[in-house]
Amino acid sequence: MLRQLVRKGLNAVDDLVVAADPRAEDHHSLVNVLFHSLYESSAQLGDPALAPNQNVTVADFSAFIEEMLENNYKVVSPAQVDAGLKPGGRYLTITFDDGYFNNQLALEVLNRFRVPATFFISTDHVHQNKAFWWDAFSRELSRSGVPATAQKAEIEQLKVWTPERIDAFLCQRFGSSVLKPSGDLDRPFTPRELGQFALNPWVHIGNHTRDHAILTNCTPDEMAEQIRACQDALADLVGYRPVVIAYPNGNCSPAAVQAALAAGLRLGFTVAPQAPRLPLDDASRMTMGRFFFFGGQDIRRQCRLFGARLVPSHALKRLMQSSPY
Ligand SMILES: [Zn+2]
Repeated sequence: MLRQLVRKGLNAVDDLVVAADPRAEDHHSLVNVLFHSLYESSAQLGDPALAPNQNVTVADFSAFIEEMLENNYKVVSPAQVDAGLKPGGRYLTITFDDGYFNNQLALEVLNRFRVPATFFISTDHVHQNKAFWWDAFSRELSRSGVPATAQKAEIEQLKVWTPERIDAFLCQRFGSSVLKPSGDLDRPFTPRELGQFALNPWVHIGNHTRDHAILTNCTPDEMAEQIRACQDALADLVGYRPVVIAYPNGNCSPAAVQAALAAGLRLGFTVAPQAPRLPLDDASRMTMGRFFFFGGQDIRRQCRLFGARLVPSHALKRLMQSSPY
């Protein structure tokens, strides 16, 4: 397939550029990595309950942390980033978006390596036991025989809408129970589970808006409400107000940053594949990039590229992202 050939070519260019740069390995001092779902084992991969995703098993997640620790990265919490990181070190934040119940599989790994991770929660999903719309849409498309590659394009098309409009569209097309999770793999945490989960000393909780609103589709008032309501809900669910937000879908704007600051947030994550420079300044601390990690791909290579100074495919992806950040 053409897409696979292009990816192979880009990978080869990345490897050549990184290999040719004598300072490549020394460059990034703060690497932020993004996860979503965790699978118990590779036997679960491809389960139609979840939309096509990063295919990360618990074993992949464990191997990722092991590799980053071997590369002398220190895993840090949002509070440590907020307090300021000592220059000269290599730092890693591990982040999980959305609030999937399957994220509890990370606990055994975090406990074993004694490293922190931050989990960004869309609180209405927790309160309503509501499936994430992209999983629900993908499940229904799979049922109609639409292949995974075509599903991605259909999912992307809905991302220009507000959450209310997306929900209404799905309910109209597939029936009112479409947003009911199909099982433990695709469901969010329950309020009680999230409260328990957040008690683990390696677990940190972050804001992911009230109902996973892509903030750039919202008015300034809607942005403020989405973020503030999530802070209030998390104060109730886990007992504190987070200092960090991950903008849903990574979409951010100056107005979204203002809304986050007004709600008391002090750090923000996008999905631009870019490491922030240290020390963080006022602008960069609210728009820190993150790298996606993929299961089933060379773990050592991915970790090497996260820390590299210039990775052509990362630069290309940044150019193609519509977000100004
Ligand atoms: Zn998300």
